[in-house]
Amino acid sequence: MTKLMPSWLQSANDPACPFPLNNLPYGVFSVGDGALHCGVAIGDRILDATGLEAAGVLRADPDADVLDAPYWNDFMELGPEAWARYRDGLQKLLAERADEVAQDACLKYSVPLAEATLHMPFRVSEYTDFYAGKHHAVNVGTMFRGAENALPPNWLHIPIGYNGRASSVVVSGTDIRRPWGQLKGPNDEAPRWAPCARFDIELEMGAIVGQASNGPISVDQADANIFGYVLLNDWSARDIQAWEYQPLGPFQAKATATSVSPWIVTTAALAPFRCDTPAREKELLPHLKDTGPMLYDIDLSVTLQPEGGEAHEISATNYKEMYYSSAQQLAHHTTSGCPMRVGDLLGSGTISGPEKENRGSLLELSWGGKEPLEVAPGIVRSFIEDGDTLALHGAAHGEGYMIGFGTCTGTVVPALEDLD
Ligand code: CA
Repeated sequence: MTKLMPSWLQSANDPACPFPLNNLPYGVFSVGDGALHCGVAIGDRILDATGLEAAGVLRADPDADVLDAPYWNDFMELGPEAWARYRDGLQKLLAERADEVAQDACLKYSVPLAEATLHMPFRVSEYTDFYAGKHHAVNVGTMFRGAENALPPNWLHIPIGYNGRASSVVVSGTDIRRPWGQLKGPNDEAPRWAPCARFDIELEMGAIVGQASNGPISVDQADANIFGYVLLNDWSARDIQAWEYQPLGPFQAKATATSVSPWIVTTAALAPFRCDTPAREKELLPHLKDTGPMLYDIDLSVTLQPEGGEAHEISATNYKEMYYSSAQQLAHHTTSGCPMRVGDLLGSGTISGPEKENRGSLLELSWGGKEPLEVAPGIVRSFIEDGDTLALHGAAHGEGYMIGFGTCTGTVVPALEDLD
């Protein structure tokens, strides 16, 4: 297991700090009414990557100001060699042995994290969401179709997915308005038009595609094309979903919003935490076979905070519970010849674990509302209530340090009143 890389910035060396020198996640920030700049989290500060580039202290591309933009897409376009070179440059500026000139430049071009507002770290080109966690698929399948038919026959052969809406992706901290929709009536009654009564979360990881492709690519190439990861909450309207999902899959149930954490944690930072997918139950066809460890050991949890109350943990799981890696999902996505773009976002699918306390959605935690969850004494939930703040947390744990993602949070506000 790798160790902490010490920095001259002492706050980065605290074992409880999510942003040590080993991490260096990429975000977009502003201070006050200032412009949006690209930034790198280190300790309790944000390094102003746009400022460092303009000053000539650290450039990703000698010929173009790729960081003079409110997103990291132009940087991603440069490709893996440039990503590694830039990360190396950052580590030289911030390592314990850095000289005074480097330290002064970093202090000049940085701001306290606490004073910054964080924005979407990249421009989402397109958004695809998968259904590739087996515990989740078995739980949901059992609820809807019974234990015998829980997994559809294709599930163990391809990562099931659907095309979502890039326009619905929002950064952590954005309020989420409860949607209206057609809700399935009990038994065979006619549907109703009403605010969603079964609004839910889905705990997921989002993989960010950092290199374009045009035609089928291998699992290895897909792995190399992934730039980094964010936490992702796929807000889901279960009653709208139950009425609309056949025959073409989810539509409005998933289109209200998808929240992502504000820092892109790079695959370089996560490299020491690579791990294998679980044992294959059916042999995969050659084009989707595992070729190496492409999942990551990342501890994940969810907290629910009622309005005016405290936050309580309702679930804890790990990304390594996924059945398919994001590299397999991306490779599968391209089999048709589907072109992929820089900035494409791939949701992993809900990450549940084997036990009840590992379930990554309220649908599973409350078993479709039949077993309401006691969040804390006197606080019971089947689904989200107005004013609840749901937050996802994630970190990979090394020896004396962690690779933190920050939080992915959103407060559910009441549905519009005048849609009757
Ligand atoms: Ca999902």
